[in-house]
Amino acid sequence: MQTREQHIRRERATSNICTAQVLLAVAASMYAVYHGAEGMQRIARRVHAQARMLAAALAALGHRAVHARYSDTLRLRPGPRSSDAILAAAAERGINLRRFKNGDIGIALDETVGPADLADLHRAFGGTGRLSAAAPGAADFGPLARTSAFLQQPVFHEHRTEHELLRYIKRLESRDLSLTTSMISLGSCTMKLNPTAAMIPISFPGFAHVHPFAPPQQTEGYRELIGRLERWLAEITGFAACSLQPNAGSQGEYAGLLTIRAYHRSRGEEQRDVCLIPASAHGTNPASAVLAGMKVVAVECDDGGNIDLADLRAKAQAHAARLAALMVTYPSTHGVFEEAIQEICGVIHQHGGQVYLDGANMNALVGLCRPADLGGDVCHLNLHKTFGIPHGGGGPGVGPICVAPHLAPFLPGHPVVLTGGARAAGAVAAAPFGSPGVLPICYAYIAMLGACGLELATKTAILNANYVAERLHPHFPVLYRGARGRIAHECIVDLRALSKATGIENDDVAKRLMDYGFHAPTMSFPVPGTLMIEPTESESLAEIDRFCEALICIRQEMREIEEERYPAGDNVLKGAPHTAECVTADAWERPYSREKAAYPTAWTRAHKFWPRVGRVDNVFGDRNLCCSWPQGAGPPAALPLA
Ligand SMILES: *Cc1c(COP(=O)(O)O)cnc(C)c1O
Repeated sequence: MQTREQHIRRERATSNICTAQVLLAVAASMYAVYHGAEGMQRIARRVHAQARMLAAALAALGHRAVHARYSDTLRLRPGPRSSDAILAAAAERGINLRRFKNGDIGIALDETVGPADLADLHRAFGGTGRLSAAAPGAADFGPLARTSAFLQQPVFHEHRTEHELLRYIKRLESRDLSLTTSMISLGSCTMKLNPTAAMIPISFPGFAHVHPFAPPQQTEGYRELIGRLERWLAEITGFAACSLQPNAGSQGEYAGLLTIRAYHRSRGEEQRDVCLIPASAHGTNPASAVLAGMKVVAVECDDGGNIDLADLRAKAQAHAARLAALMVTYPSTHGVFEEAIQEICGVIHQHGGQVYLDGANMNALVGLCRPADLGGDVCHLNLHKTFGIPHGGGGPGVGPICVAPHLAPFLPGHPVVLTGGARAAGAVAAAPFGSPGVLPICYAYIAMLGACGLELATKTAILNANYVAERLHPHFPVLYRGARGRIAHECIVDLRALSKATGIENDDVAKRLMDYGFHAPTMSFPVPGTLMIEPTESESLAEIDRFCEALICIRQEMREIEEERYPAGDNVLKGAPHTAECVTADAWERPYSREKAAYPTAWTRAHKFWPRVGRVDNVFGDRNLCCSWPQGAGPPAALPLA
């Protein structure tokens, strides 16, 4: 893997939903690493043998397997006992079975199933619970049987003891510059603490082992948790109703816009399909609008980074007959509380449109003001930003939408489990409540902080951001501020003039920060050539100071280049990041010292994070994906992408 920063590109916007599955993918890959091909086959054979044992035993009772060939899943046509009686008997033994429309019953086995479970299943179908201990016949997958080798790479052979696997995982983890080392100041991402006390409950079996389609009488606890959370989030945003179904902010945008479209349609205004979006918006906004079948019209921003009111009025007027919605982020993606927000919402309503408020920056609002009062009709929340759920590879996110009363009937529904509004258009996710497995984190976060704690968190986040802006301003200009000279919860540091003077780009600053033990801020969003910093409420003054000092030291390193003490093309910034291998090599031909490269501050001596990889050409790297696994063990070594 190459070492990269976060560049949020407008036209190539990605969502947390793109990285949310990483944790699950890593968990699944570790399963394969530990078991290897032999282990996976052993597991599959055992499960298949159990399926054969069960099929034979049930056939003897008169329940026939519908398919001659199967792996771990049986579809049974009930004989002497009715499906209802079988399902009831299984449920009594703590087993949920699938019921097909025609009365057939589906049973899926896996490696967690043991002899006692098979006995219970046998009893549910009217048997004695005594099955033969050996599977009849031999495994038969017919033409589908796999004959080719798989998982041949060394990694699937080398970690077969728990110690080895532990060390392998730890080794990989140590390459990651994560929150375990230092603050991650990614603007627009709200990389706050994921409190341990809030995280632990998601591993409780009662939360972790519930199927999304489990019968309602088995999920009363979950429903209570979901119901309370929906009410809390509605209260926090000032709205009437909430849907937890969307799996990310972007999906919330999509769901919210579908809700708006359904509302217009219900009033005979099918033609309303124009969505106004300010030029400063996060790239997921226009992408969601297009997915929802809307036509995007961009609204200009003024020099202060605020929505250009005259342009907004003109465009709302010009498209009045077809105006469906405005998507607006508050505080803005520039990190400023736009003072005209209520006026902006008023203009849209006046022309028959609805206001979609992008709530990704809710960490600057919770407890202080409510999107509904600002004039929004619907907003999404990023529970993985504002409400403590991990993100950026840390597992599934949640992007609920909260809506005003007139939109509540159109909240997303579900074909299997009853949820959503009375006139719901459909589902936006496969599971009725999205990823309920992570909701206990958000529930605990809100419950533990309470109203006072949530408000204090918001105030602290805003204070921290303003502190960063004030500390950095003498060294790097801070781009946008509100009318009273203050910012919201994040600030944009402008490097463009310095880049022009020194040839040092924001990429160089980002790479150099790694030498100081810091993850780079968000790059070039929403303004190219800048850094966007969001400290959140979770960081201590000492940590924020350490981060500011790193940037101030880097400013000094830039000055050394301005003063021509080091060449513009060969200096500690252009050479960053510095790996242990590079600074300890016998040969060193750079114009600065090794010490300057690797130990620029006292704290790097106390705890040094070593970047794994030196400078790579980002653009070339993006276009030329390299597979580092051994030749002959898979696809070719280089896969040119462009
Ligand atoms: C993060 C973000 C989004 C997208 O949210 P995801 O959960 O990543 O889909 C949308 N708008 C803004 C302003 C954001 O910061």
